[in-house]
Amino acid sequence: MAERTPLLSVRELKKTYQGASGPVEAVGSITFDVRPGELVCIVGPSGCGKTTLLKCLSGLLTPTAGAVTLDGAPVTTPPKKMALVFQEYGRSLYPWLTVRDNVALPLKARGMPKAERRAVVEQAVAEVGLGHALDTYPWQLSGGMQQRVAIARAVAYQPEILVMDEPFAAVDAQTRADLEDLVRRVWRDLGVTVLFVTHDIDESVYLGERVLMLSSSPTFVQEDLAIDLPDERDQLTTRAMPRFTELRTHVYEQIQRAKRGAATPVPH
Ligand code: ADP
Ligand code: MG
Repeated sequence: MAERTPLLSVRELKKTYQGASGPVEAVGSITFDVRPGELVCIVGPSGCGKTTLLKCLSGLLTPTAGAVTLDGAPVTTPPKKMALVFQEYGRSLYPWLTVRDNVALPLKARGMPKAERRAVVEQAVAEVGLGHALDTYPWQLSGGMQQRVAIARAVAYQPEILVMDEPFAAVDAQTRADLEDLVRRVWRDLGVTVLFVTHDIDESVYLGERVLMLSSSPTFVQEDLAIDLPDERDQLTTRAMPRFTELRTHVYEQIQRAKRGAATPVPH
């Protein structure tokens, strides 16, 4: 079946850093696939190698061993089909460019004609609820709004896969809830594949259709859990569901096991 063909494939990925006091085995061996249209969350404790994994699978860092392919092609440099959103929104937008120009920049670099660019930018900015702020500068916006701009820029780029590294870790709880709902809406409206990394267990269960649980470093995939919550999610009702509590408790217990070193990799 065509839809079962993986879009992103990570095979026995390993990353050892050469630290000042010897090698640091950040990622032990990670193997997983993401299929087209999936919304996959990766959850693991701080320092377990999540950012290292994302840097390797986006071609920003060369793995020590293993392979990453996107649409069947090996990833060695940042792929055009991938867009990234990081935690540090403050550093990811250009302060001297308006919202419109920040979002347009990668499209310009790609050679999209001006009229088309304008339409795509306006649609993406509207999608994140900032249609009224097209001509403002990032420094005139709150942190949550700046992160919306970063999401709009990634969406406008029309990637095949949107990769997010703890994008909401630095915003307040209410803003975070709004941004979580925004990610699910963008995923559903645009049909983009999403790989979302977080250390927050509740967030991974609320957002994901599937949650990959990582062990502590040297990291492996401890469990690949399907999230069987209804497709329509809502901060109040979904989080109050008994099934939500069961799933989050399960993930929590598994992560505690990982911290004790009692976890084993999922067979693949
Ligand atoms: P996470 O994103 O899950 O918090 P990271 O991928 O940032 O984890 O880090 C995983 C491990 O690798 C940590 O022990 C961290 O100290 C180490 N590490 C990260 N980057 C480097 C680096 N450039 N050199 C040496 N060690 C690093
Ligand atoms: Mg990180």
